[in-house]
Amino acid sequence: MYLAGGTIARSGDVMPAKVAINGYGTIGKRVADAVRRQDDMHLVGVAKMKPNYEARMAVERGYALYATAGDALPKFEKAGLKVHGTLEDLLKEADLVVDCTPEESGYKPTYEKAGVKAIWQGGEDHALTNFSFNAAVNYGDALGVPWVRVPSCNTTGLIRTLYPLDVHFGVEKALAVMVRRATDPPDSKKGPINAIEPELEMPSHHGPDVQSVLPTLNLHTIALKVPTTIMHVHAIAVELKQEVSAGDVIGVWRRTPRVTFVRGADGVTSTAQIMEIARDLSRSRADLYEIAVWQDGVHVVGKTLYYFQAVHQEADVVPENVDAIRAMLKLEKDGRRSIEKTDKSLGIGG
Ligand code: NAD
Repeated sequence: MYLAGGTIARSGDVMPAKVAINGYGTIGKRVADAVRRQDDMHLVGVAKMKPNYEARMAVERGYALYATAGDALPKFEKAGLKVHGTLEDLLKEADLVVDCTPEESGYKPTYEKAGVKAIWQGGEDHALTNFSFNAAVNYGDALGVPWVRVPSCNTTGLIRTLYPLDVHFGVEKALAVMVRRATDPPDSKKGPINAIEPELEMPSHHGPDVQSVLPTLNLHTIALKVPTTIMHVHAIAVELKQEVSAGDVIGVWRRTPRVTFVRGADGVTSTAQIMEIARDLSRSRADLYEIAVWQDGVHVVGKTLYYFQAVHQEADVVPENVDAIRAMLKLEKDGRRSIEKTDKSLGIGG
């Protein structure tokens, strides 16, 4: 049986959980594609505010398009885009909505009224949901909960490598200096274009944000923005509770989902080559869902570990959203199994 949106339900299976997306931009379109690849979820539609090229592409990809608000319906009609109704109508079809609108768009009362569960993204404060999610850390705690926030790309990147270090060796304290991309590739309005912009807040918001998932991790973060549109790079120093070798650390990360290695010795000397590898992998949108650690940039001096990692900001949170849906709707009780299922569907690690 072929369902609108592209989910294939095998005969005899329980019907897939119904998922809606509100906000079809950088993150929304990727979560939509990822949901479509799951056999236990069905994408019921995506809500767009404006009838722009992204709305047109959503229709071309076979997604049911909805207008965020009723007063936008004539604009969609004028643009020749068929809509199935408004966000309110979309929510009637859904068990859960993934909110991928900009921060503080304020849809919580709308979702509450519609009686749907909701996931928000990292632009929102932890206080909105009181639950910040990372599949490897707290999948079990998310089983059945109504509201979840998936932290930002940078926060997710830090958690992916620091959490296993803390579990295996103990982290006394860590410092992450984060070199952040200025904006995303489709954005031609934001900068900086020819400047380096330090974040003067200290610590940057990322440290406390990591602590919304790992409350006891002693982490300080410093951030600056540079004129590039793909990938952040983190330079990280970690004081461990025991002496280890670089090999021990690499061994732990090799067994950690969604962490991958690149090597300067292979000519991967910058984010440019990492994104070229992502293109060579021929994944959807050339997305790199894993955190890329420079293997030959891992150094240990005494109990202090130094390493560099790169984060594809458009992609790393996507599998976390899929696992969050699975946990909240209790489609899978075991976090490890959900991670494996999601990763297989997205071509991670295979
Ligand atoms: P985006 O601007 O690319 O997309 C936002 C979408 O929401 C667009 O389709 C826009 O038209 C729509 N929109 C704007 N205002 C709206 C409103 N009031 N109501 C409904 N729809 C509205 O944004 P994004 O980069 O996808 O970010 C979405 C969320 O994901 C934010 O919380 C952001 O912090 C977070 N996030 C972004 C990145 C990233 O690198 N872009 C990474 C991780 C998390």
